[in-house]
Amino acid sequence: MASDIRIRLRDDLADLKPYDPGLSAQEIVLSANENPFGMPDCVREAALSAVADVAFERYPDPLADGLRDDIAAWHGVERSQVIVGNGGDELIFDLLLAFGGRGRVLLDCPPTFSIYALYAKLTDTEIVAIPRNAADFSLDRKAVEHAAESADIVMITSPNNPTGNTVDPDWVASLAERARGIVVVDEAYIEFADEGSSCAGLMRDHGNVAILRTFSKAFALAGVRCGYLLAPEGVVDGIAAVRQPYSVDAIGQAVSRVVVAHRDAYEDAIATIKEERERLTSALRDTGCIEVWPSQGNFVLVRMPGAHAAYERLRDEFSILTRDFSRSPFLSDCLRITVGTPQENDRVIAALASLGKESS
Ligand code: PMP
Repeated sequence: MASDIRIRLRDDLADLKPYDPGLSAQEIVLSANENPFGMPDCVREAALSAVADVAFERYPDPLADGLRDDIAAWHGVERSQVIVGNGGDELIFDLLLAFGGRGRVLLDCPPTFSIYALYAKLTDTEIVAIPRNAADFSLDRKAVEHAAESADIVMITSPNNPTGNTVDPDWVASLAERARGIVVVDEAYIEFADEGSSCAGLMRDHGNVAILRTFSKAFALAGVRCGYLLAPEGVVDGIAAVRQPYSVDAIGQAVSRVVVAHRDAYEDAIATIKEERERLTSALRDTGCIEVWPSQGNFVLVRMPGAHAAYERLRDEFSILTRDFSRSPFLSDCLRITVGTPQENDRVIAALASLGKESS
């Protein structure tokens, strides 16, 4: 009998490899766009005390209504316009599950966060890719506007990972007018961007705009896994229907609520990261990088000769982990470097300067 049982992976997934965040244990980890300062002490204390009160033996609130209410009050929307997920990643998956699928189209603008295309594949959603302009990675606006007319989900990332640029909210408003489906603006890094960059205000006048946010980046909570989507009620209802009911567990809900309540406590760290980003950007321009793109995120994308070898040497000789995009489409010879603490940034600047000297 046993020999008759066939365990076969779906044919269309035969070449799929598990998502690889490129992690390895190094002294300085600048590869995952985390907040290097961690939680402010007062938030950590409040989070630990909230965890102590968690009813571990009970299932959590399935939709995390308490957390949804806190997020709704913060952003001036209704609970019915908020849904939380096990990281922003899960919400991207659920969006594609509910609004993508066979016969549906995702508009993707590479180079960008690779998870969109991966989850499109998993959900059998067709991808229409409109590559960004090669020189500055700005969007090819005309082509995006045109493609949006026949896409079910338009994914716009602002600031974009890994290129760091934002989109103009006024342009997104006009895109939403023309789009047939949902325009999702992934604002995972928006807290690091200039004032006025967010597209969240567009939700008031545009019934097809959704905004993705996460606690993983500015709010130093990548380990807990919680993100949220601000979206029209119909989108929230669609995601609620496909989502795993308890995907944000009781600890995640409790800690995220503490973070929302103490969100002002992160302001100093965010300001420092923004200052350090500018310092890192200009210092890297003196180290032999051919190109250092201006960034509105907590990371900087650089292009340098022999980037893959530089990535390996940073890791193996300097114990600094960066993100190697040198073999990714549109990003030849590019590395992404997360903004670290001032000391970490000094180390990466010095390391790249010494590699740059060798090759000049
Ligand atoms: N969007 C973008 C653009 C990202 O870079 C990331 C994380 N790398 C996410 C969403 C999802 O983050 P998380 O799942 O940690 O909330």
